[in-house]
Amino acid sequence: MQKINTVAPSPAIEITSKLPTVGTTIFTVMTRMAAEYGAISLSQGAPDFPCSNELIDLITHYMKAGFNQYAPMEGLMALREQIALKTERCYGYAPDPLSEVTVVTGATEGLFAAITAVIHPGDEVIVLEPCYDSYIPAIELCGGKAIRISLESETYRIPWQQLANAINSRTRLLIINTPHNPTGTILRKEDIQQLAALLKDTQILLISDEVYEHIIFDGEPHYSVLREPELRERSFVMSSFGKTYHATGWKMGYCIAPAFLTRELRRVHQFLVFSTHTPTQYALADYLKKPETYEDLPAFFQKKRDMFRQMMSQTRFRLLPSEGSYFQLASYAHMTDEGDADYATRLTKEYGVATIPVSAFYKEGTDNKILRFCFAKKDETLEKAVERLAKV
Ligand code: PMP
Ligand code: GLN
Repeated sequence: MQKINTVAPSPAIEITSKLPTVGTTIFTVMTRMAAEYGAISLSQGAPDFPCSNELIDLITHYMKAGFNQYAPMEGLMALREQIALKTERCYGYAPDPLSEVTVVTGATEGLFAAITAVIHPGDEVIVLEPCYDSYIPAIELCGGKAIRISLESETYRIPWQQLANAINSRTRLLIINTPHNPTGTILRKEDIQQLAALLKDTQILLISDEVYEHIIFDGEPHYSVLREPELRERSFVMSSFGKTYHATGWKMGYCIAPAFLTRELRRVHQFLVFSTHTPTQYALADYLKKPETYEDLPAFFQKKRDMFRQMMSQTRFRLLPSEGSYFQLASYAHMTDEGDADYATRLTKEYGVATIPVSAFYKEGTDNKILRFCFAKKDETLEKAVERLAKV
């Protein structure tokens, strides 16, 4: 019998990395470190409590009933119809499920497909730092240039003048995220309207990453760009069922965009993943018929935020505001000079609590000595973590 050659590829073969400066994502690094040291993980943004049993039963039902083959490339029509109804209910705008709604394999895939669909080599894309770690690699893989603008120090508001100054004839796309990961800030009606005024009469497209749309506090409404006609005509808006239904591992989301952008998005999506998990789409189409499944979320997470903040106020960390998302930033600048990556490592190893250093959300690793804590955790997890943090 012929032996299968298991020898590693010859080192004489050279390849040029397309992402030479990119390492393993911080979420994987910190999750692994937490597991290695048996630390409580408030690092990666993922709940440690279960998702709905009803939803699991629905998926099981559809699997057993034989809905296990490819879904339509754009997503199941029944689900797209429910997404359109939900969007109208939440934001007063009903997208056309046929031509403006696409089911994607998590917002990560939607973002990648949208960026790939519109960015050509040499195009400039404005991103506001700190920003979610998948944006810039996607831009660079397309030969685009990320123009990075820092949000204002600690308030993390948009520096409007700087943003206006960054716009030129090469600017193709701007990416925003509200509620914001990692800072927990939100864009309000005034911000979205200011953005509409800035982009009016330009050729600039917008990606609005709204995966935390239902995790927003203190009675504030989520002001989606879908509420602004000027913006929605040029935007890809990303949502994630992973965030909304406590099921990040299912990698399910959707993108709403006008037909001319959706057409291009689907051209990429069909070759990236073709379609997404069929039984889950059937289940979500049923589950979305109950608005309380997403409308109860602000109160649910506000309780966790308030509890976590109240407990953390007894530690030495200085908390920044958290208006939305399930993240809480805390400064330790008054406690030590250590860099945030080193400090996060030490907290994991010596105190048994894993967090995310915020420098990971800046391409150049800007370090303001701030850590991100995820409070999408059981109350007892949060209590145990703060007990440990109180010893710092
Ligand atoms: N954008 C932001 C801001 C996120 O925090 C996440 C969380 N992973 C994503 C996009 C990706 O979402 P998904 O898990 O649906 O791919
Ligand atoms: N969005 C999640 C976070 O910010 C992580 C997603 C991932 O691990 N890629 O923690």
